[in-house]
Amino acid sequence: MASWIAGLIVTGELVCDGCGKPMRHPERYGYICEEGKEPVRLCEQCSRARGYLVSRGDERGREMDSFL
Ligand SMILES: [Zn+2]
Repeated sequence: MASWIAGLIVTGELVCDGCGKPMRHPERYGYICEEGKEPVRLCEQCSRARGYLVSRGDERGREMDSFL
């Protein structure tokens, strides 16, 4: 099953498809496309809860968030 996810910046206003929370610029959101399904937009919390957004510490100990 082909699927992909993009980490995008909200332009204008969007509503999270996971929790219904309004998202506004410049928040980040995850855009998840799965073959045969409608694309889903998820806020950072929902992306994290579903494992699409992970935090990695870099060598200086800073937290880096990255979408998978
Ligand atoms: Zn959400």
